[in-house]
Amino acid sequence: MLRMDMTIRTRFAPSPTGLLHIGGARTALFNYLFSRHYGGEFLLRVEDTDRERSTDAATQVILEGLEWLGIRHDGQTVFQSSRQSRHAEVAWQMLEAGHAYRCYLSPAELTAMREQAAAEKRPFRLVSPWRDRDPADAPSDVKPVIRLRAPREGETVVEDLVQGTVRVANVELDDMIILRSDGTPTYQHAVVVDDHDMAITHVIRGDDHLTNAFRQSQVYQANGWDIPRFAHIPLIHGADGAKLSKRHGAVSVLEFREQGFLPEALCNYLLRLGWGHGDAEILSRDEAIALFDLDGVGRAASRMDYAKLTNLNAHYLRQADNDRLTADVVARLGVTDPAVIARVRALMPGLRERARTMVELAASATFLTRVLPFDFDMKAAALLTPEAKVMLAEVATTLESGPFTSEAIDAALRGIAEASGRKLGQVAQPIRAALTGTTTSPPIDATLVALGRDEALARIRAAAA
Ligand code: GLU
Repeated sequence: MLRMDMTIRTRFAPSPTGLLHIGGARTALFNYLFSRHYGGEFLLRVEDTDRERSTDAATQVILEGLEWLGIRHDGQTVFQSSRQSRHAEVAWQMLEAGHAYRCYLSPAELTAMREQAAAEKRPFRLVSPWRDRDPADAPSDVKPVIRLRAPREGETVVEDLVQGTVRVANVELDDMIILRSDGTPTYQHAVVVDDHDMAITHVIRGDDHLTNAFRQSQVYQANGWDIPRFAHIPLIHGADGAKLSKRHGAVSVLEFREQGFLPEALCNYLLRLGWGHGDAEILSRDEAIALFDLDGVGRAASRMDYAKLTNLNAHYLRQADNDRLTADVVARLGVTDPAVIARVRALMPGLRERARTMVELAASATFLTRVLPFDFDMKAAALLTPEAKVMLAEVATTLESGPFTSEAIDAALRGIAEASGRKLGQVAQPIRAALTGTTTSPPIDATLVALGRDEALARIRAAAA
């Protein structure tokens, strides 16, 4: 439990150097749910300090992915690059207070030190001579960097809310650069200054950042700032235990959208991936907010299970609003004709029962967009025997009059089946072939109604001919 007098403030801090990976999406979701659970705030900071690798396109992809997932942040998006003068200001304050120093090592000296460490087969940990040297000795032709004067004794301890207590001996950490010679901040320094200024209380992120927490803790301490609580969550792996990559399947959030997953299904899946609450599997957003806390986050790496995600998606698809599914399907099929859109909408209750993804759903609706004359697949063609064609002609005549409703059509087809000694299925299958060019569709009465009398009879007559 947390102190209730403290406003919980979390953030998602993506680097816009690539896609919004589902690992990042899960980090964003956990930060979002945690802040909402405690009635706090969830902020977004785009870490674009690396101007060479950051792109506006990547920023847009991240924003679009978060929007699609319904992970909304509070306040303005903070762009880290716009805060460089503040990062420099803090570095100078640290310099003044003696918690940092100017280091004049030249690139050649640094290389020599690195090579010497390699020759002596020991790990290279820079101990700059400038830590204790008189700045009056500084060479005039080297622009200094500013380094943290890190403690050399004792240890740095991180009380991680997921990983437990993790510690490192301070001799293992060198005096990292906080401000480069061109006056730009390093990533580790910028993160701390920003998290402090944004009053972040909990840093929830991938456990690939765990070792950064040591160095970042030292920067907090040097400034006399409160250290936020850290929670490093295990990464997502593929089913084979290897780091999740393209060869396992989709990895970027927008790719999941393309492949026909619903955002609520993906969020539910990501929530359960690495977090648990009893055996609850299906959780709405509100339930997730009510239940989410960091003590439910496991320490083992999670494995991505695409089959499980697909099953969850099928569940959400059956619950989704018809109009929403229709809009998505017609967009996927590129349909703009209102008459065809109406057909898709009318048949949606039947179509969505048999699809697991939006891609499957769109595929199953394709026949509604067909324009006569169209081809039949092999199984459908085989159903259209001379005898079946005679029957189809009869069906067309029967359905010409009377109400064109499910009930009336059902009664008419049963009448034809009875009169000709056929089973209802033997009547329905050739009609299905005629209407769709395939052998699968929702129930035949619903399919006929969705197509409308004119289109349905035109298709039946074309197949009978
Ligand atoms: N920008 C970092 C990343 O995208 C995240 C840093 C953090 O959360 O502290 O991996």
